[in-house]
Amino acid sequence: MKHTITLIPGDGIGPEVASAMQKVVESAGIDAQWETYEAGETAYQKCGKYIPDDLIASIRRNKVAIKGPITTPVGEGFASINVALRKTFNLYANFRPIRNMPGVKTPFDNVDIIVVRENTEDLYSGLEHVVVPGVVESLKIITAEASTRIARFTFEYTRRGHRKKVTAIHKANIMKLSDGLFLKCVRDVAVLYPEVFYEELIVDNACMQMVLNPQQFDVMLTENLYGDIVSDLGAGLVGGLGLVPGANLGEDCAIFEPVHGSAPKIAGKGMANPTAMLLSAVLMFQHLGESEKAHRIQAAIERVYTRGAFLTPDIGGSTTTSQFTEAVTQHLVN
Ligand code: NAD
Repeated sequence: MKHTITLIPGDGIGPEVASAMQKVVESAGIDAQWETYEAGETAYQKCGKYIPDDLIASIRRNKVAIKGPITTPVGEGFASINVALRKTFNLYANFRPIRNMPGVKTPFDNVDIIVVRENTEDLYSGLEHVVVPGVVESLKIITAEASTRIARFTFEYTRRGHRKKVTAIHKANIMKLSDGLFLKCVRDVAVLYPEVFYEELIVDNACMQMVLNPQQFDVMLTENLYGDIVSDLGAGLVGGLGLVPGANLGEDCAIFEPVHGSAPKIAGKGMANPTAMLLSAVLMFQHLGESEKAHRIQAAIERVYTRGAFLTPDIGGSTTTSQFTEAVTQHLVN
């Protein structure tokens, strides 16, 4: 079956990991036709828009996209393109599986956590203003509608995925209204799933528990900001950001992307680990009903790590992005 997919290579290490992903998908025998678009600063310089209209139309048409990271200026400049895309397509669930990679030694074995992060509101609303010089207000928006929707998604996934436990992460001891509303909505959904064990943890304690005993976590349900922090922390437990994929899921469309950013310091040096992008493609092809081929790609990646001969610098080796990619394709064809 042929799949037409919108591809946003992104910037920084994005084009390197996107090209690796395309090579591996082709070697796996998947018939993918890519509609490739720029976004962010490069797009703005060419067409005066950070998210070109053609890109939006392509995602609406194809209903599925995969993207590399896009740089967001810190403390100035344009708003995050990533956040804008998630809001434009109402991709309310950010799904991030964090698992040990066979062969990658870390202080922890048997980590297998799914972070489900609400993707459309919270402090990512982008509503900030100067009250008076020297005083700034940032609005944290939490709604019952979005909190209930992400809770339903999480408990449904937990039941269907044969997982056992949902841990809601919050700071409702301090943000009694906003996080309090989030928790109330999650509790209302939790009672509809008596077969799923439900618990709550305050976010600071949750972070400490993750680095002491990450195996206790199964599915972590979070608001937007806590989910961002907790998933990078989780990536650190299993070997780093080079390994962790993600999916942004909505009712109509889905955009798959690694958890990592554009890693500007290593961009263009052939040092980027493409695994997170490859595993994001695995999630995408599972979503598109290509489970067998998605599984083959995942198995090929795992064999490369298990043998340990081709490791990128972030995992302690000296293999380049293209050598790693070549090793994965070799394991696919042999
Ligand atoms: P980052 O994820 O780019 O990098 C953090 C660290 O992880 C760096 O040491 C980097 O070298 C390393 N790293 C990340 N991905 C790697 C890979 N595939 N292989 C090897 N090493 C890897 O985070 P940052 O430095 O905080 O952010 C850089 C830029 O990326 C910022 O502009 C930020 O806004 C943006 N960003 C974009 C996204 C996205 O597009 N979804 C996500 C996060 C950050």
